Amino acid sequence: MSERDSREVLRDLETGRMSWDEVREILRQKKTLNRFSEYRSALSETTPFGDRVLLRVGEYLLVVCEPDGSHAVRCLECEHDFGDPRVNWKLSSRVRVRRTLEEFLEIYLYEEVCPEPGIAEVREYYCPGCFTLLCVECVPTGYPPMFEFLPDLASVYTDILGDTAPTDPEGEWVFEDRSLSKVEAWASTTTTVDTQGAGR
Ligand SMILES: [Zn+2]
Repeated sequence: MSERDSREVLRDLETGRMSWDEVREILRQKKTLNRFSEYRSALSETTPFGDRVLLRVGEYLLVVCEPDGSHAVRCLECEHDFGDPRVNWKLSSRVRVRRTLEEFLEIYLYEEVCPEPGIAEVREYYCPGCFTLLCVECVPTGYPPMFEFLPDLASVYTDILGDTAPTDPEGEWVFEDRSLSKVEAWASTTTTVDTQGAGR
């Protein structure tokens, strides 16, 4: 494997065409300083977004620079646009919530390891475009959707990579959680909410 081109290795890693033995060998290797740029190059060759990919925030989710200079979280499978990376993408997904023991036993093998109904719930987040399962979280009932990764693009690119900081139409990238803006928009709208897919 050491004779293989580094980008080829990363491309195989990205597309899942690599044995566990090879993956384990890579995990044990000393990391090169340009590993991130090599990884981005591999992503640009294996995703529909080319060199507009800036960061990965999940197995199927990428932060992409849009043609107008703004940034969005996009689905790797269907390119669905989840919007501003500073807004929790889960607020734009389809959600299935499991609350009862019967529902838990569809995914847990034994009752002994199930969450306690009424105390906790299991949420499955799906892409609205292709229904790929993006994330599962087990949280106390009523707990807000967990914002697992609020990307600080400017710090990643300037402080860590020593590169040029991405900008957006507002100018300098502002690092802040804007999830509540989505909730406020819901609160101010008079449109009837479609509850057919939510909470099932
Ligand atoms: Zn999708």
